[in-house]
Amino acid sequence: MDSADQHPHDHDHLDGNALAGALEQFMVDLTSARCTCAHCGSSSALGAALLYTHAPGMVLRCPTCTSVLLCLSDQEGRQVLTVDGIRQFAVTSR
Ligand SMILES: [Zn+2]
Repeated sequence: MDSADQHPHDHDHLDGNALAGALEQFMVDLTSARCTCAHCGSSSALGAALLYTHAPGMVLRCPTCTSVLLCLSDQEGRQVLTVDGIRQFAVTSR
């Protein structure tokens, strides 16, 4: 590869696999995690949000503004989680 083809910040980062240990903190029951709505900015426990199970898949809505926080659906044998409506997840450090 020509040096001009290399990413300009090749020495500034690791690959995503290096995040594995830090992400283990999120391998818990996330219903107690606090999530911040990307639409209205309110923060509440995930378990306090509004779950709709009659949509294709499951849809979780913000308890303050009712915007969609996340969707969980089965798509061709894969479980797909879409979290466009959540700005931030916060769990207590272990
Ligand atoms: Zn909201």
